[in-house]
Amino acid sequence: MSALLPFLRRLIAAQGPLSVAAYMALALGHPRHGYYMTRDPLGARGDFTTAPEISQLFGESLAVWCALAWEAMGRPAPLNLVELGPGRGTLMADLLRTLDRVAPDLARAAHIHLVETSPVLRAKQESALSARNAAWQETLARVPPGPLLLIGNEFFDALPVQQFIRDGGVWRERRVDWDAAAERLVFVAGPPLPGLVPAAVADAPDGSVYETNPVAAALAEEIGARLAAAPGAALVIDYGRRRTATGDTLAAIQGGRKDADPLAAPGEADLTAHVDFAALAAAFAKGGARCRGPTTQGELLRALGIETRLAALRERATPAQAAALERGARRLIGPEGMGTLFLALAATSPDLPAPPGFAD
Ligand code: SAH
Repeated sequence: MSALLPFLRRLIAAQGPLSVAAYMALALGHPRHGYYMTRDPLGARGDFTTAPEISQLFGESLAVWCALAWEAMGRPAPLNLVELGPGRGTLMADLLRTLDRVAPDLARAAHIHLVETSPVLRAKQESALSARNAAWQETLARVPPGPLLLIGNEFFDALPVQQFIRDGGVWRERRVDWDAAAERLVFVAGPPLPGLVPAAVADAPDGSVYETNPVAAALAEEIGARLAAAPGAALVIDYGRRRTATGDTLAAIQGGRKDADPLAAPGEADLTAHVDFAALAAAFAKGGARCRGPTTQGELLRALGIETRLAALRERATPAQAAALERGARRLIGPEGMGTLFLALAATSPDLPAPPGFAD
């Protein structure tokens, strides 16, 4: 049984139904029972896997992105190299190993900051990066100002979404309540909250759900402000939609499967929601940055030379290793999977050219 459920019941009894955002934030981030706070969900036996866990080619390709973006920035030194939600630290380890080889000046100039709230994952990151001089921060705000390279892979989808539901011709906040008869958490429609749903979708039919992510927007704006104040570039890769639209995308993932009910196992299942890339780009721009994209993960990795790198690695590999490398690369860039499902958005200082893999 979910250790978080009794806490959520008491909270709802004391103060009424929770917003979906409060529910999601607690289910993932409650200090003692939150999903990310208590476990490492990644890897083959975990609840889900991510691009850096699938293939070293992912981090190696993003190293090329960082090296070229740094050149375009005028090679500032020192600079902050920041990763948001670094998981097991695999991406940063692969990226730094490649930078040592292809851009040693950047590797030397970079102050590495890992923004992570989970003690379990932080411990994994510490062992993956034990040879590196890295600093851990609970929030981006703790990273000192200055030139910046920032990466976030499958990070923004873990931030809490607020949901609205169209009900009786008005938009109400969607909330989470305890159904005592059924003994489970249920969604309910809260009081009307007019004016928060953009005009483009405001006329949606009854039953429609609209999601916003105020935490993601605030963070993107903060990154945008950093990029306006000093040279820098940021790269966000995640699954989501290109344009603002209605749709309930809140999902629970356990053992690699999407659970039907995101309220069934708070703290025991991962919760995720699609990233609204249009909203994210608007927030970067509000902070003062310039955005390019989104493009697809497949297009980005191809532009960064993943296929050339694959060919080089295969030459030195055993047949079994070569087959595994090939499979990993296909999963990352193939049209049937992550290659088209995942989108990449770049934000830079306003006067910088389009970063590698992106066009104006
Ligand atoms: N980027 C990694 C891990 C993705 S899982 C990869 O691609 O493998 C999401 C990561 O974000 C985890 O490390 C999780 O602990 C972290 N995370 C989730 N919410 C966070 C928050 N609000 N602040 C900082 N880190 C967070």
